Amino acid sequence: MNKLTTDEILTKDAHLIQSFANLHALKQADARTAIVAAEGAHVTDSEGNRLIDGIGGLWCVNVGHGRREIIDAITEQLNTLDYYSTFYNFTHPAAAELAEKVASLAPAPLNNVYFANSGSVANDTAVRMLHHYNNLRGKPEKKQILSRMGAYHGSTHMAMALTTPGYSTGWGAVEGLVHHLKAPHKYREAPGMSDAEFLAVLEQDMLDAIHRIGADNICAFFAEPIQGAGGVITAPPGYHAAMRRITREHDIMYVADEVVTAWGRLGHMFASEDVYDCVPDIITTAKGLTSGYQPLSATIISDEIYDVISGPDAMFLHGMTYSGHPAAAAAALANIEILESEGIPARVQTTGKLFEGLLRGLEDMDMVGEVRGSHFMMGIEFVRNKDTREEFPADANVGGLVAKEAQKRGLIARALGNILILSPTLIMDDALIREIAATLRESIAKVSADLGI
Ligand code: PMP
Repeated sequence: MNKLTTDEILTKDAHLIQSFANLHALKQADARTAIVAAEGAHVTDSEGNRLIDGIGGLWCVNVGHGRREIIDAITEQLNTLDYYSTFYNFTHPAAAELAEKVASLAPAPLNNVYFANSGSVANDTAVRMLHHYNNLRGKPEKKQILSRMGAYHGSTHMAMALTTPGYSTGWGAVEGLVHHLKAPHKYREAPGMSDAEFLAVLEQDMLDAIHRIGADNICAFFAEPIQGAGGVITAPPGYHAAMRRITREHDIMYVADEVVTAWGRLGHMFASEDVYDCVPDIITTAKGLTSGYQPLSATIISDEIYDVISGPDAMFLHGMTYSGHPAAAAAALANIEILESEGIPARVQTTGKLFEGLLRGLEDMDMVGEVRGSHFMMGIEFVRNKDTREEFPADANVGGLVAKEAQKRGLIARALGNILILSPTLIMDDALIREIAATLRESIAKVSADLGI
């Protein structure tokens, strides 16, 4: 139980380096919000305000906050085996049981699971595995990677190189390894085109890149089913299946980054096969795997890749101390048990559609250019002129202005420049879903009036 006042928390917090923030701006009074408690779909701040968690922590608290079953499973695990590694010849029951469970839920040939502690490291692990795989196949030059503009794959040095370049402005990223294809962003990249025409453009862009770089030099294509932190960008219908076909034709491994989209957020345990008809070679995932109760990620690889890296002459030189930590594995098992026993992914097919539909209804507002996404993964792009799609200047931070108004009205949303992101818990009833939509409408109307739009 928190016993500190807001001032006491923020004084101590002066020593904490926040993530993805202007650290200078955070020094201003009132710039930071301390969250001190959470229950269900709500959190409580240090001033005692109860807020709807419209971003599910960080697109991760899928089964809601404060679930006793997960907390008890973690405690029980720690009481029995607090820590042991999965290095060398060691293993433990929680990691073994979870690996079997994840493999049983993933698409058919993806039967082999490597655990780490973050989505970033899950993606780095995929890159390392594929480089190793190609070395073992006698193809040491096959190391280049295709990613996309608008992608977000994490914050380690390699994952940031896979991410859209805008995220590493002023920092630098691993050079010479990653090539960014066009973002599948119809609203901005292809106004006036049909879905089919835009899909043809994107396919040609991939083929041109393969031709330019050479298939013999490319090991992988990385793609989120829906680009999340790049602005909730949904590709035209058929995109993932088409990209899958091209990668297969050129012996390029398809890595689906399902860090956000798995574990019910789009109405299925995994989105790749069930939503997008695309069975990749590797799925990386994290977040909803434990609903955020413990840090855990998984890199799930096909038998084809596993057979090579587990061959007689191979040595798997990769490992993190906390890979498959018992408490994290126990949390994931309890979390998946909740997702299954409460039928949460199936329920999201209804409640998520209601959420999506109500948010799409905001497109009747003058400042709302596009509402996009799917189920409980939604983005709202604000524009200065709806007809011409004229953007606000990048520093206008209209998403931030709307998020601030929403927070005053009891809802946490996430700003991304002039875009607002909503990725709430998956356990909300219709009334709460309607409350979020109504709060957003009021907040957007207020900012729109302030800006004279
Ligand atoms: N991939 C995607 C699609 C993500 O959204 C994120 C995090 N938002 C990551 C990877 C990185 O995960 P983590 O923050 O756990 O390193």
